[in-house]
Amino acid sequence: MDRLVAMDYPQVVLHWIDGKEVPSQANESIPKHDPHTGEILTRVARGRKADVDAAIAAAVAVQPSWAATNIVERAQILRRATQIVESRTEEISEIVAKEAGKPLKDSRAETGAAIELGYFMAGEGRRYYGMTTTSAMPNRSAIIVRQPVGVCGLIIAANTPLPNVAWKAYPALLCGNAAIMKPAEDTPLSALWFARVLKEAGLPDGVFSLVQGLGVEAGAPLVEDHRVDLLSFTGSVGVGRFIQRVAGERLAKVCLELGGKNPLVICDDANLEDAARWAVVSAFSNAGQRCASGSRILIFESVYEEFKGIFLEKAKRLKVGIADDCDLGPVINERQLNNMLVKVREAVARDGATLLLGGERVVDQDHRGYYVAPTILENLSPQAVLSRSELFGPITALYPVRDLEEAIGMVNDSPFGLTAAIHTASIHRAQLFAGRCRSGVVSINGPTHGSEPHMPFGGLRDSGNGWREPGTQALDVYSEWKAIYTRFDPEQV
Ligand code: NAD
Repeated sequence: MDRLVAMDYPQVVLHWIDGKEVPSQANESIPKHDPHTGEILTRVARGRKADVDAAIAAAVAVQPSWAATNIVERAQILRRATQIVESRTEEISEIVAKEAGKPLKDSRAETGAAIELGYFMAGEGRRYYGMTTTSAMPNRSAIIVRQPVGVCGLIIAANTPLPNVAWKAYPALLCGNAAIMKPAEDTPLSALWFARVLKEAGLPDGVFSLVQGLGVEAGAPLVEDHRVDLLSFTGSVGVGRFIQRVAGERLAKVCLELGGKNPLVICDDANLEDAARWAVVSAFSNAGQRCASGSRILIFESVYEEFKGIFLEKAKRLKVGIADDCDLGPVINERQLNNMLVKVREAVARDGATLLLGGERVVDQDHRGYYVAPTILENLSPQAVLSRSELFGPITALYPVRDLEEAIGMVNDSPFGLTAAIHTASIHRAQLFAGRCRSGVVSINGPTHGSEPHMPFGGLRDSGNGWREPGTQALDVYSEWKAIYTRFDPEQV
């Protein structure tokens, strides 16, 4: 594979269909901006139904032979791909840092996470456990094995581009499916880079394709096409509902990994220094562009002012920019930036919130792109719009709570149920909290975010529809169980 470095962006980032880079059939493209400078970085092929059709046709044609390939061989291809990613960590990390607008140290860490996931999933090729069980019928054995689902449509967000690709591509391919991915329009090149790596590792053409472009034009046709057996989506609740409705109508399997409004509870017995450090990381790392970011900080009244002082002090020291000594970069695009600023202004003007920090765009010689200052609000009612909706940016709010009972009530009184964290010195409080939180992930004395390749991630209510990725639980998304009975006749021995 030719080295593709961030500085040599192609003029147009193309689709990847049937093992080749191709332009859109209509030869159209859209601009892609650099989040750090706001300038046009490149253009992206503008996919439409005709491009999606071509990718689906290639997937349908090749999927049976990929499914018939021994799973250990499939896993070896995925392991080789992971080795290539590992050997080119710097190259892909530079691409991600540039197109997503983040410090290189952050994109390197994300590349590391994608690599770990790759090795974990490749290892599943030699496990891939089914079940053996009993049968009520004499002389009959009963086993349960996995089979591929078929053709998968994978639609992803831009926040951690390479892990987002890896979370879906690795398990989908391991399980013997062909897949068509619709990368986020803001991070097209990292996905294309990965598709080229898969080919270099030996993946047959057509098994993994990419259609670039806008969600309504390049994503929706995947959702609507009856040849796509499974839709797996990471993104916003609104689009998730659309996918569930449309793909659900034809009874396709639908896996949704959606948003969060993740609470972090600070008890009166917490180590406040430590808790404030984790709260800062939860709220502001990756510019708050995490489904699991800590956007509601619930603090026991008796330590509210003390915690607020420490937290504010730490947040004020955060360095905004993309150099390696910076703590957070820009948000991904201008639309998101404007939406965040409007929502914060409304929270203050309409809902009576007090702005403790930020609430504005950072613009100067070194920050010409989509920078939002770390923003902290208080005096916001738990029922206010901003307490109940996600902003996906470096914005958090502080809420006083009387005690653990009230905190747990507020944690659970939310449209979302992705992650929840508590800071306490009491194992009793921590255990009670972990047991009663209605969320997919609980963190004790740590951040609201953080996931490992072998652990399931996902949430309740508007955070998803019950599936979990990654972990071995991801295999349940990308495979179907098959029950096999074998009857034998002792008379014929
Ligand atoms: P988004 O829903 O706007 O876009 C996500 C993807 O869906 C993009 O590729 C987009 O082009 C595509 N899309 C948009 N409209 C579509 C349509 N009508 N049909 C098909 N595809 C369409 O989300 P976003 O704002 O880019 O991403 C942020 C969201 O993602 C947040 O809500 C965040 O919490 C969520 N997220 C969730 C997880 C998780 O694991 N739960 C992880 C990361 C991000």
